[in-house]
Amino acid sequence: MTDLNLLTLTQAREGLATREFTAVELTQDYLSAMEKARALNAFTVETADRALAMAAKADERIASGDAGRLEGLPLGVKDMFATEGVRTTACSKILDGFVPPYESTVTSHLWRDGAVMLGKLSNDEFAMGSSNETSAFGPVVSPWRRDGDATPLVPGGSSGGSAAAVAGFLCAGATGTDTGGSIRQPAAFTGTVGIKPTYGRCSRWGIIAYASSLDQAGAFARTVNDAAILLRSMAGHDPKDSTSVTMRVPDYEDAVGASVRGKRIGIPREYRVDGMSQEIIELWEQGASMLRDAGAEIVDITLPHTKYALPAYYIVAPAEASSNLARYDGVRYGERVPGKDIIDMYERTRAAGFGPEVRRRIMIGTYVLSAGYYDAYYLKAQKVRTLIKRDFDDVFAQGVDAILTPTTPSPAFAIGAMTNADPVEMYLNDVFTVTVNLAGLPAISVPAGFSADELPLGLQLIGRPFEEETLFSLAQAIEDSAGRFPVEDFWWSK
Ligand code: GLN
Repeated sequence: MTDLNLLTLTQAREGLATREFTAVELTQDYLSAMEKARALNAFTVETADRALAMAAKADERIASGDAGRLEGLPLGVKDMFATEGVRTTACSKILDGFVPPYESTVTSHLWRDGAVMLGKLSNDEFAMGSSNETSAFGPVVSPWRRDGDATPLVPGGSSGGSAAAVAGFLCAGATGTDTGGSIRQPAAFTGTVGIKPTYGRCSRWGIIAYASSLDQAGAFARTVNDAAILLRSMAGHDPKDSTSVTMRVPDYEDAVGASVRGKRIGIPREYRVDGMSQEIIELWEQGASMLRDAGAEIVDITLPHTKYALPAYYIVAPAEASSNLARYDGVRYGERVPGKDIIDMYERTRAAGFGPEVRRRIMIGTYVLSAGYYDAYYLKAQKVRTLIKRDFDDVFAQGVDAILTPTTPSPAFAIGAMTNADPVEMYLNDVFTVTVNLAGLPAISVPAGFSADELPLGLQLIGRPFEEETLFSLAQAIEDSAGRFPVEDFWWSK
């Protein structure tokens, strides 16, 4: 058999269990797909030798009947996750050459369950961005192209490497982190499924911090079921992260395919933003019809503080980032530029090590936290955050089970199209996703249709806290109706 990388994670699991092929064979097919896909620039490190060694061990465990839940399944890891002995830089020059002596909890759960690590995946520097163009390793190219047009497109961001690698069949699934949309937006841009669970569901330990009250790990996959399998392994309590919850992790796969009859789905009026394209409006209506046909009830809802979410996010996130990134001073990790004294060394190191977007966020963050501006900006943003959370609480108290929105206001754009524009243009990509992080809720993006130029479009389902299962059931109903969205033209490997 060839091209085992084209199987879904669920199919590959089945093939390994029935001994149709070995984990080593499966891994080899992924490694050769990765080799042919260097034009996509999705990986920052390829760990071929480690992958083959892990796969060989997986085959032994399968043979002896000790297979874990992810035994032999080859995965990619976003460069925000510390991986023991494998370079981890958050795609920033400031962490150049950093090789962690420890493993993040989420990735350690994957290896505990038998998964195989193929390598590290690119992201926007420190996960700040919506296009994966700010990575120190250069932009990631989407496997997707517009119909009849070879213009290279962004895969979305910040987890662009994860999205491109999953969409391009370079890994069976991947980890991502989502602070304001970094799993869901790239999933929507690449026709993949992206789940950001409830804040506290996955441990943040060993994930390079961007904005700690918003950051949450999650998964990219080619199907809803694949995403459910991955999240089950990733999630779980960790005493090393005091914000991780002690709740039992359900078997999310049981929720996939469960009936959605009688579920109440809210359509928030405020998400119909000015200038929203007709194709996005139609996609949203089609999504509502798909869920209605599956037996759900569609209701109009209001989330009145939505319009303040983006401004509040772009105060809270940079504020936390400016504090988290204060640790990069040239003393402990990565890059150091010598100076005439220690202050000069700090300044030179930080000026050389951080890219322009990260510097912008640090400056905004220190400004909004500074004496005199704290009350006007940071404290105000925190109050807005509470109101946004309350909007969701009210809607859920009225019996709404989940909320349906578009994931993004547009399909993927060309590399370079937004980089010279006002940075706020780029921030507008997150208009439908940041509310979820501010409120700590779970949300999933699922492919639901195509744009006029045949690029995938995603719909977002937002759930009650810790009710990821409802999201998997509803997302599966959309997948059943809309079908799957694999790339068909492997232009990068020709
Ligand atoms: N695009 C958003 C930002 O730049 C979200 C990033 C993320 O979720 N990590 O902050």
